[in-house]
Amino acid sequence: MGKKFVNGCDFRALLKKNWLLMGTIVAVVLGIVIGVLMREFVVLSSLDKYYFGFPGEILMRMLKMIILPLIVSSIITGVAMLDSGVSRKIGTRAMIYYFSTTITAVILGIVLVMAIKPGVSQKADEIGRRGSIPEVTTVDAMLDLLRNAFPENLVQASFQQYKSKRVEIEPVNKSSTTTGPNITMTTQVNETKKSDYKVVGTYSNGLNVLGLIVFCLVFGIIIGQMGEKGKILLDFFDALNEATMKIVQIIMWYMPIGVLFIIAAKIMQVDDWEIFHRLGLYMATVLIGLAIHGIIILPMIYFIVVRKNPFRFIGGMAEALLTSVMISSSSATLPVTFRCAEEKNKVDKRITRFVLPVGATINMDGTALYEAVAAIFIAQLNDYPLDVGQIVTISVTATAASVGAAGVPQAGMVTMVIVLTAVGLPANDVTLIIAVDWLLDRFRTMVNVLGDSFGAGIVEKLSGNELQQGDFSSGINIVNPFALETAASEKEEAKIKESYINGAFDVDKSDSVAVTETSQF
Ligand code: ASP
Repeated sequence: MGKKFVNGCDFRALLKKNWLLMGTIVAVVLGIVIGVLMREFVVLSSLDKYYFGFPGEILMRMLKMIILPLIVSSIITGVAMLDSGVSRKIGTRAMIYYFSTTITAVILGIVLVMAIKPGVSQKADEIGRRGSIPEVTTVDAMLDLLRNAFPENLVQASFQQYKSKRVEIEPVNKSSTTTGPNITMTTQVNETKKSDYKVVGTYSNGLNVLGLIVFCLVFGIIIGQMGEKGKILLDFFDALNEATMKIVQIIMWYMPIGVLFIIAAKIMQVDDWEIFHRLGLYMATVLIGLAIHGIIILPMIYFIVVRKNPFRFIGGMAEALLTSVMISSSSATLPVTFRCAEEKNKVDKRITRFVLPVGATINMDGTALYEAVAAIFIAQLNDYPLDVGQIVTISVTATAASVGAAGVPQAGMVTMVIVLTAVGLPANDVTLIIAVDWLLDRFRTMVNVLGDSFGAGIVEKLSGNELQQGDFSSGINIVNPFALETAASEKEEAKIKESYINGAFDVDKSDSVAVTETSQF
């Protein structure tokens, strides 16, 4: 093996094949070195630091720009190219995978934080609360999740999400209900204090990925069932998907430069390194949990199901994992995740198009583990005893909060309020861990992306039969219906079926591969 690397040709071939990964690694190292040197030897104002981060900001903008067409086109074509029976099976498998791995991560987090007890010897006041967090309650956050799943305006869903806020209103003598365009309902009346609340609905900036996913899933299924009439739409979205992935390829060229500046600027901007000392044990607990989940548990599940080397799979995803650490966003990493899963790990596009975008939105093992650890850590800091019921509540709410968290930086910290309020801890205590969250966020995002990627590989393996041969047993088949309709004879039909099985109707090509219920088969 050593000989191979001595050979210049092999090394050049390796470099050519992995130029992006190598370039990104070099950029990370350079970014750290430049960031540390600038921090130590150059006196820069806050404004200077802000402008220094500009090339990194451009990378983030480019990645975010591509999420909308990528998610829409990949989900619609992904679902439409499979018949409804197959996509239901794939969907169920993906959901079982998402749920079981997330709950495993939560349990792992709880076991670790109970064993290590990072908050027992410290007091909340020693660590100090910083800033304030937006006011969220468990019920409202859950309802908002459902509201966002059904956006009232699709165009608005492309740039805004719904958010409820509880506002205390003037004391009243008895309960009353107020209605208005934004005021939804009266939620609580306290007879003695006569305090009352109203829920005010607002919109905040950010892609409503959940709403778009729900719409695209339904839209894709419908197109798939429409036969020839739906073909034009399927072709359109398939072409859009290919064009989007070509733009992603262009963005990748800029990746190393953007990454270098993102990391250097971040190192220059952090002003309190001392806090890492005080929160060291808590950080270690989260990082150990993430490492066990990412290096042992997920690979083990992959190995048991797929029977292939999970670490080679992880190697194939290296670019995506590195990107996620740099930008702390599984949604913005999605374009890279797609490229790695499809090009390096050769996962079937019909699987990635469905499993990756949905996973990036609802499957967050790293976030779930972190939420459970952080909630129990805050309880320990406050000397707040937790009974078994509360631990179970933490498991359930941490899972829900990870589903509810968007794939954007530090979203998990906001949804953590759901977990804290559910067990009666002060919601504002999230601010105790705010100072180190930007760092932990990077690693939990990496585990989130890894979980989605393994999910694609595992669901592909489990769906092998349906993908290779179509689901003949159910009388439904994945074939090119338009070719079938024009087939002049039974002989031609048989030829078409055979050519599909042999890969002639490869989904890679933008040929009209679609779904139909063919009673002929
Ligand atoms: N940043 C995470 C992600 O994008 C979400 C979070 O845990 O804050 O996956």
